[in-house]
Amino acid sequence: MADYHFTQASDYFKNPQLDTIHQGISDFCAMIETIESSLNIARDCAAMQSTLETKIYIESLKDHERNELHYIEQFIKANKKKQVFNFIQLNDIEISAIPNKHELKPFPERKLLPYIQEVKKFTDLMIEDLLRIYKGSTVRFDQSWRNIDLFRGSFVCIKCGSIVTKILKHIDSLSKISLREKDSLLPNFTYVYGSEVIKAGLLPWKGENEVLEDEILIPASSLKMDVRVEAATGCCGSDSSVTNVFCRNGHPIGKKASDCWMPHFIRLTMIHVKKVEIL
Ligand SMILES: [Zn+2]
Ligand SMILES: [Zn+2]
Repeated sequence: MADYHFTQASDYFKNPQLDTIHQGISDFCAMIETIESSLNIARDCAAMQSTLETKIYIESLKDHERNELHYIEQFIKANKKKQVFNFIQLNDIEISAIPNKHELKPFPERKLLPYIQEVKKFTDLMIEDLLRIYKGSTVRFDQSWRNIDLFRGSFVCIKCGSIVTKILKHIDSLSKISLREKDSLLPNFTYVYGSEVIKAGLLPWKGENEVLEDEILIPASSLKMDVRVEAATGCCGSDSSVTNVFCRNGHPIGKKASDCWMPHFIRLTMIHVKKVEIL
């Protein structure tokens, strides 16, 4: 449907006529509405297949992409309320400035003709990405913000060099993270950076005392046996609000999260530990 209106609108503006200008405009408006519903359907389908992959995809969109999605949404609203097109010439039509509920300043005017092409191209790609998640095919979208560590290794205490974890590997797919309470956040023998779970929208909880960018998260089962974990505050387990994990020589290295309302893991602080790789 979006394809049909896109072709109609594009063809129309190749040779616009004063008495039928409304046809081109109507096709453009119909195209935008169809695009919005196609995006919603594609997102729902993707979420049915994998809520987590879909969430990671949406969270990892770039600012300008998010901005374009907001524009579509706001355009549809504004277009229902009032006339949003300025006719400068037959082949030079402007969409007037429209309110942006996500920012203080409105979206500035846009030239209609280039926008018809841009919005179609941009949303086609996004719908394709979402449908690929729906079909369950493998890694597709840009995750260049992730740190991918190739080598396995153990973390050691920076102060004394004693080994504090078993040999771990960087988690390959963030969809292996479990946010269910009392589950291990991570599979055995893996770690993930705090910055990654933040960027992917996979924080185990938000607000007070949440996971920070400069932390390394590991499963509780991956600590070395001689690491000392002290009891700490929480309603029935340690809620990770205080440092209670120490290397065998007593140096602070991190916090344990093991209360009933959270997934379970250890938060190592980057200023206290470093990774020693096994090549
Ligand atoms: Zn130490
Ligand atoms: Zn509890």
